[in-house]
Amino acid sequence: MPQTYAWLSIAAAVCTMALKAGGYLLTSSVALLSDALESGVNLLAAGVTLWMLTVAAQPPDTEHPFGHSKFEYLASAVEGGGIGIAAVGIALTAWGRLHQPVALPALTEGMALTVLATAINGGTAWLLWRAGRRLRSIALRADAHHLLTDVWTSVGGVLGLGIVHYTGWLWVDPVIALAMALHLAVVGYHLLQETVAGLVDTALPLAEQALLQTVLTDYTAQGIRFHALRTRGAGRRRFVSVHILVPGDWSVKQGHNLCDRLEQAIAQTLPGTAVITHMEPVEDPLSWQDEDLERFTA
Ligand SMILES: [Zn+2]
Ligand SMILES: [Zn+2]
Repeated sequence: MPQTYAWLSIAAAVCTMALKAGGYLLTSSVALLSDALESGVNLLAAGVTLWMLTVAAQPPDTEHPFGHSKFEYLASAVEGGGIGIAAVGIALTAWGRLHQPVALPALTEGMALTVLATAINGGTAWLLWRAGRRLRSIALRADAHHLLTDVWTSVGGVLGLGIVHYTGWLWVDPVIALAMALHLAVVGYHLLQETVAGLVDTALPLAEQALLQTVLTDYTAQGIRFHALRTRGAGRRRFVSVHILVPGDWSVKQGHNLCDRLEQAIAQTLPGTAVITHMEPVEDPLSWQDEDLERFTA
């Protein structure tokens, strides 16, 4: 049950966020504040993952005949936006602190809380990673990846606070926070970029298009022709539509058998692909008038 693991990661995110927020309140360190905010983002991500696993996995219905996989983009938009806002907030706070350093009391206690939070995160990441591999769930593995990133930034934060503790260099704290903000900004940017690419119906990656071509080439050798090939991704689902040109004297049954075989071959090469075919007589000039991607233009 992937849902059980999604709940586990939500529980872990709540715990670590509370511990790190406690660390920030004790020490008023911006590095710990950014670490706590990152856990907040992880909480958001975990919630979104749970939502995605339930909504996006639903089979197509009359209201959403192409399936619900595009709901994943809403999830990643929320996640990317949240990460971006956190990055800006951290950067602004850290910038202010660089110019007006603040004393950091109770550093050891704050570090201890963060170490505890990091242990919880690390353990959860390991469990999610194992489950994600066993259940072949991309969402769970992505979630584990987020948690691991959080572990590394926490380790960086604790090391930095250790330096502040032994040297008294207060500037180390905001510098670490700025580095974390930069990292978060990059992660958020990539998430939003992927989201936009999916929402505007970008064609499948070139490697997947090449796989598709190898399937079609098998049939070209048998004298069948193709054109107007269109591809797009929608979350975990893929959509392919193509015109198939066969001899005009084929029976409907013969043609339909070919369509079914081709659709199956494509779905086997690229799992989760919905294929829509349009059959045309190869000798008829009319068939070749719609080679372009725009079929009917008004
Ligand atoms: Zn059919
Ligand atoms: Zn055509």
